[in-house]
Parts: sequence; C-alpha cells; structure tokens
Amino acid sequence: MATAPGARATARETTGVPQPAADSTPLILSGANVVLPSGTVTAGRVVVDGTRIAATAPDDARVLDVRGHWLVPGFVDLHNHGGGGASFTSGTVEEVLAGIETHRRHGTTTLVASTVTGDMDFLTHRAGLLSELAEQGDIAGIHFEGPFISPCRKGAHSEELLRDPDPAEVRKLIDAARGHARMVTLATELPGGTDSVRLLAEHGVIAAIGHTDATYEQTVEAIEAGATVATHLFNAMPALGHRAPGPIAALLQDERVTVELINDGVHLHPAALELAFRHKGARRVAFITDAMDAAGFGDGRYMLGPLEVEVAGGVARLVEGGSIAGSTLTLDRAFKRAVTVDRLPVEDAVAALSANPARLLGLSDRVGSLEPGRDADLVLLDGAFDVRGVMRRGLWVVAPELG
Ligand SMILES: [Zn+2]
Repeated sequence: MATAPGARATARETTGVPQPAADSTPLILSGANVVLPSGTVTAGRVVVDGTRIAATAPDDARVLDVRGHWLVPGFVDLHNHGGGGASFTSGTVEEVLAGIETHRRHGTTTLVASTVTGDMDFLTHRAGLLSELAEQGDIAGIHFEGPFISPCRKGAHSEELLRDPDPAEVRKLIDAARGHARMVTLATELPGGTDSVRLLAEHGVIAAIGHTDATYEQTVEAIEAGATVATHLFNAMPALGHRAPGPIAALLQDERVTVELINDGVHLHPAALELAFRHKGARRVAFITDAMDAAGFGDGRYMLGPLEVEVAGGVARLVEGGSIAGSTLTLDRAFKRAVTVDRLPVEDAVAALSANPARLLGLSDRVGSLEPGRDADLVLLDGAFDVRGVMRRGLWVVAPELG
C-alpha cells in the first residue's frame, strides 16, 4: 500500500465533504444549545472564523440555523488503538489515517494513538512512524499501553512480550517518540515501577496506572511518585474488596488522579460509572474508547498486535481465552449513552469527553471548549444526541444536512 504523502489528500477527498474554507467568510452557527464551561446557553451561537472560534462576527458573516441541536466541543480521546479496520499499532500510514478519519466522523477531533504490547525494537520503530503523524497534526501524540504491565492482568496483550518497567527502556520509548509521547500505562507495582513513574513525570509524560495487580498501598505509592491517570478504571485490575481495597479505592480517592472509563455498556456496569463520578467529580473523569480496528467498521476477525480477536455483536474478545480485547466504541456513542442511559448532565458528559482529557494533555488553550480563541473543533448533535455534523479546525469533517 502506498504511504506517500499524496495518499493523505486522496483519503480525505474521498469523504466528499464540502469544505467551507474555500469561502473565508466567517460562519455563525446559530440557535443551538451551546455547551460552554460555564454552562449551557440555549439558543446560543458559535462563530467560526478560519480555523478558530471567534467572539464576534462581521455583518456579512454567513448564518447556519442549527436550532433544536446541541453544539459541543470536539471530543478528545486519550486512549485509542484503531478503527475503520485499521490498527494504530500495525497499520500503514495510510491505514492509520483512515482509522483517525473514522473516529473524526464520530466526533473525535483530537486523538492520542495507543499501541499495544510489542517488543522494544518494534515499539521504538512504531513510535517513529506515529511521531511523524503527530508532527503533521494528525494525532495529538502517542500512548504506550504495555509492555510494562502485569502478566496477571494482561488483558489482550501478549504475555511473552511483557516486561518489568525498566526506567532505561521507558526512556527509550520517550526518546523514540521525539517529544510526542503523551502517556505510558504501566503496572507500577512491578520492579522498577515507581522509578519509571518518576521518570515519566519528570519528562512531562503521563504515568497511567493500569493492567495492574497492585495493592491499595502500592497504588498510593505510585500516585505519590507522580502517576496521574487510571487506565480504564475497573478493567484489568483487582476488584474493589472491603479488606483489600486494591488500586480502585486508591485511584478513586486521590484528587490528583483522573480516571479513564470505557462507557460502552460492556466494560462497565452503570453503577460503576456512577461510583466513579461521585468520587471523582465531573472534572476527574475522562471517557475513552480503547477502540480497536473494528470500531466504526463491523464484526469479524481482527488482529490486536499479534493476538487474534473475534468481534461479534460489537464486542471484541480474544479468540484464545475470550478476554475482552478493547472496544468497538466511538466517542459519540459514549456521549449518547452517558446522557440517555447513565443520565449524566450533558455538561458533565462534555467535560469527560473534551475539557478533562484536553487539560491532561496540556491542550486546554487550543481544544476542549467552545470558547473564543480555541480551534474550531465542534460536534453538532440532534435532539436524540446523534451526530449531525463534525467540524475540525474550521473544516467540516461531516457537513450537516439540515432540513
Ligand atoms: Zn488500550
């Protein structure tokens, strides 16, 4: 498959989306419920001027009537392994871009590409490829999930490739990512775990606790060392116990920690989600997809790294052993479920999908809210919370067709 730069343009042209950028007149999206950090403005408006959101519009601005709709910030996915049939761990550049485009059509305008466990040579090589996509602005960086995780909680990672978190090796991954490593998930209780957390924190890379068999006390130690994220809280870690509370209690209690949740109705019971929100508050939860190739694509056989996965009814499981192997979620579905099934306030769901992950990534001045000056990244939803339009940096990825 071609991986020449020209492939990018072709992949995008085939989406057939009309681009308002050809006309540089500012655009007013008018009449929607606009979800801002300060609350929801009914019959509000958002002004798009070029690639940014503007405070005011000139008299000759075009107006698009979006009454009866919701306007929310573009979604930010911290943890995503692929979609549209493509894997971020093994796909060609062209395939990875197609996977990113699939998630964009579902509202994810900022995406961190996640890798699964591989050997160190493979991962450092992969980091080089993904860092080029980060430099071009296609992704917001790289998340390494594994290889420094616990064999007891390996989920869909190859056991023979797992290793203890050696700070020198963690450093190799950071270097290979050329400034674009954003997060490393590790089992901090393993030898070298605490030192690795310190190293990550010193380099401004998020140390995420996950695929872990840690005790409560070991988790507290990792948080003290600088870990700030729980990788898909509840999944791939010991359950909450009253005598051995384990990592979940420590991660819920400490306000320095943001917890990732996979809100697909498969990975979590709604009561677990409610427990997380009650403890963390709306500012310390980030909805993620943890998506694999089948997201936005369909059922069938896939590879997750070297492991074979069967997707049936939208649920991905390892062929061998039957472990849940990532999700087929897109963030629009996570949002719709949050407000319709979980009955979260729209503002809290928006925070978990946009502002909170943006803050963690240090991108709050650019994305995560619809305030003037930010990138014009937004999602237009109808009254049933289905996506009707997606704009990224002022360009429609999904152009709304309004009656
Ligand atoms: Zn993952």
